[in-house]
Amino acid sequence: MKSISIAIVLVGSMWFAPSVPMAEAAPCFMVTLTGTQSGPSVFNGQAGAGTLVRYGDDSNDCAAMKLQFDTGRGTNMRLSQINVTPVQLNAIFFTHMHGDHTEGFADIMMLRWYLKGPKIDIVCSSDATSVLGHTNSCRKFVTHVAEAFLQSGEIAERRSEDKERLAGGPADLTNVITFDPKDEPQVVWSSGDVKVSAIRSTHTAGHASYRVDTPAGSVVIGGDAGNDVLAPPRASSTSDQVEKLAKGVDIIVHSAFHPVLGPDRGSGFPPLSYYRQSLASDLGAMAQRVGAKHLMLTHLGPSLGAVIHNRWKVPGGPLTQADYRKAVEAGGFTGNIIVGTDLATLRLPAK
Ligand SMILES: [Zn+2]
Repeated sequence: MKSISIAIVLVGSMWFAPSVPMAEAAPCFMVTLTGTQSGPSVFNGQAGAGTLVRYGDDSNDCAAMKLQFDTGRGTNMRLSQINVTPVQLNAIFFTHMHGDHTEGFADIMMLRWYLKGPKIDIVCSSDATSVLGHTNSCRKFVTHVAEAFLQSGEIAERRSEDKERLAGGPADLTNVITFDPKDEPQVVWSSGDVKVSAIRSTHTAGHASYRVDTPAGSVVIGGDAGNDVLAPPRASSTSDQVEKLAKGVDIIVHSAFHPVLGPDRGSGFPPLSYYRQSLASDLGAMAQRVGAKHLMLTHLGPSLGAVIHNRWKVPGGPLTQADYRKAVEAGGFTGNIIVGTDLATLRLPAK
């Protein structure tokens, strides 16, 4: 009885509380491609694969929180162009352990260590063994990321200048959070009203795709995901799990290959590498099926304007944005298509 009467008193006091309109700033978020290069080569100054997701409200230009997905070559330089320093990142997520998605990590972490932190969550798959027997280990990669700088003496030297820098170098600044990628979405990180989920996808052992949900919108970052069936015949080159993760999402960011590199076109590009990626046309079809409003193609194979992809000649000559757009439209997508270039940005809601 006592608790009931307290509840009535509380409800009563709420009833009489004056209703003051709250001057809340509207939530917003931004998705920026920090690098659009398809690895492992480099073309025309493009940075390696990466996506920055910023969330906040109008009062902080949608950037109270900054999450980086993959850190390919040159990520730090691209971040500097939008005035983001490594110290400001709240967490870093890896889709997989290929160099074109990880090479910029040492650069980011060395600078964060030099500027004295703070600690940062690194979120990625737990160790995964491939069918060929080797192990892909994000944890080891993160733990040893600055080994060369420890060995060279730089870490010790800069510590002698400022003892507040941690003795173990950048690895001491990391809090590695690993998860076992599964065929259903699982929440792997959250903070306030931002939630990050992951799902298993096929490319390499331990590959994961991510989804970020915020009150201002949502984005799926597919990484280099392809279909579990590694070669035709199959319904699609896209991942069924990514499709599940992307149901009703606002934005899909995904690595994309153009059909021009297919074995039937005679470029010589290895079929295995071709088939373990998603085709722009199939991504268009998937984006349409899940009801996405925006499709951002990144990690383009071949790069826009490239005569050579890695070391294979692009049949028919260099591709344009229109070529990728045409492929996506052929898949039936009627939403907004962004054929990625470095620093391409989408803001929700649009300004
Ligand atoms: Zn890649």
